[in-house]
Amino acid sequence: MKYYSLTNNSNTATFDEAVIRGLAPDRGLYFPAKTERLSEDFLQDLENKTPVEIGVEVMRPFVGGTIPEARLKKIVEDTLCFDFPLVPIHKGVDTLELFHGPTMAFKDVGARFMARCIGYFNEQNPKKVTVLVATSGDTGGAVASGFLGIEGTEVIILYPKGKVSDIQELQLTTNGNNIKAVEVDGVFDDCQEMVKTAFLDEDLNNVYNLTSANSINVARWLPQSLYFFFAYQQLKRQGIEEDLVFSVPSGNFGNICAGIVASKLGLPVHHFVASTNVNDTVPRYLQTQEYNPYPSKQTISNAMDVGNPSNFIRIQSLFENNFDALKQQFSSHAFDDNQTQVALKALYNDHNYVADPHGAVGYLGLQKYMQENPSTHGVFLETAHPIKFRDTVEESLQITLDIPEQIQHILDKTPKKTALKDYDAFKEYLLQRA
Ligand SMILES: *Cc1c(COP(=O)(O)O)cnc(C)c1O
Repeated sequence: MKYYSLTNNSNTATFDEAVIRGLAPDRGLYFPAKTERLSEDFLQDLENKTPVEIGVEVMRPFVGGTIPEARLKKIVEDTLCFDFPLVPIHKGVDTLELFHGPTMAFKDVGARFMARCIGYFNEQNPKKVTVLVATSGDTGGAVASGFLGIEGTEVIILYPKGKVSDIQELQLTTNGNNIKAVEVDGVFDDCQEMVKTAFLDEDLNNVYNLTSANSINVARWLPQSLYFFFAYQQLKRQGIEEDLVFSVPSGNFGNICAGIVASKLGLPVHHFVASTNVNDTVPRYLQTQEYNPYPSKQTISNAMDVGNPSNFIRIQSLFENNFDALKQQFSSHAFDDNQTQVALKALYNDHNYVADPHGAVGYLGLQKYMQENPSTHGVFLETAHPIKFRDTVEESLQITLDIPEQIQHILDKTPKKTALKDYDAFKEYLLQRA
């Protein structure tokens, strides 16, 4: 399997090259040259497969021979070390809980898979890989946890001072070992800008082998297809396998794009709904056919506060840039914080389910689609544990959440971070430690 750059199709790479580089040298996103249907035998027999069997079968073509079979199996086993339960909400609607991993947000799977692939590639070519990652909260924690202790890698996380929750900050700053946290005196966009500048800085590239761990990286993006197989498998066991609709709370649109990949691989999905907060660039595009990104706005579902979703170009490519084909299988709806809180309350009061604000947005998008398409069966993805958005959830529902074990064990740890104010300071920090 080759990957090509969406900026210039003649720039290609193998899986290992695409993973180590992150972005293509022409700054384009890598895209798989083929997404071929899995074998009919495999698809027919999905409900009898283990998650690891599904993981290996789905990822093998994407890895394209760059990792031996036995090692790929080990990587998938280490990645999928927790459950993905489908929980009924009411008739015709379930939620797929993706938050049972070490940092309690769905990004754990992609981060763990990517880290272990780089760990393997590094054994073949021992040049230490330095992962730079800017985070507004969830990504940094998942990447830190995924890469913790992986030989030949180090992670430098940049996060905006005072703009992440207390729990998120502890997840970023208490890992130690090969994980370093940098607190930037600024907002998320400043962190992101510093990372982008570093990737282009020759002085740094002379001494570091830099890569990115955002969902632009194919090793973080593609394993997310597995979630949709896990949901389908659980539904099929209940005899439900037709007219399936997935609603995915979307920010950078990596997760939903992976779902569309799953449908290209043969998973029978009727429709995808990308549910967003007021950062509504894609819902507006579907109405007007004009792509006009706005700067991002802050919301209570802040992991989706993205004004210009980087993976949307991949979604368009999956539909061969055909707008009508896209609209057939894909809708997108936006909801504000007020609607999100109403949905949180409805899920709790009417269905006894405590969602997080991102899951609540997913529920809203699903409801909207199912009102017009009532004979479908809907699944919304619950992308984070409510404890990660504790203040909003406790205040909206007037309840006190129990603290899960994954969070409990970091509460008494001592945070370690380096405070920096701008790019020059960051560059000096990197050069000094090189
Ligand atoms: C990152 C994140 C999202 C958005 O996922 P994308 O792949 O960027 O669309 C949604 N919910 C939570 C909790 C997240 O952390």
